[in-house]
Amino acid sequence: MKLELVKYPAPSLKEVCERIEELTPELREIIDNMVETMYEDDGVGLAAPQVGLQKRLIVIDPSGPKERTDLQVIINPEIISSEGSIDSEESCLSCPSFRCVIKRAEKVVVTGTDLDGNELRIEADDFKAIVLQHEIDHLDGTLIVDRVGRLKRAMYDKKIKKWQKNAGE
Ligand code: ZN
Repeated sequence: MKLELVKYPAPSLKEVCERIEELTPELREIIDNMVETMYEDDGVGLAAPQVGLQKRLIVIDPSGPKERTDLQVIINPEIISSEGSIDSEESCLSCPSFRCVIKRAEKVVVTGTDLDGNELRIEADDFKAIVLQHEIDHLDGTLIVDRVGRLKRAMYDKKIKKWQKNAGE
């Protein structure tokens, strides 16, 4: 089932998410739905708070959106080291019509747990490293709009207000 996406400026997107202590059947179902939602919306990653769940959980598939060969579910992901710096052009399913270029680490090492409870250690660079950083940012309440300059952010806020006004009329 495709889930409804939580969109900026929803306050819940700014919350720090809780760690997952137990993988319940309900949670597994949400994970299946998150993957479906990510694929249907042509995303390369999705974080739990984007579907209204304030838990530390992400799904990624950096092979997309055309191919779908590298699906990974990461529970309680954590960046344990990062190095280098690259310019990254990003967009976000929770920030419609917003694109920006921001700085990201070039390489990261991420730990976490998979669906079977196995410990993960993922060494990623380039695009996959960017996707991981973007999604893990969501778990700490950080969006790409929080990583751009004040002017660009203000322009986007203005655009959002206009949409909301138009939708309310
Ligand atoms: Zn995002």
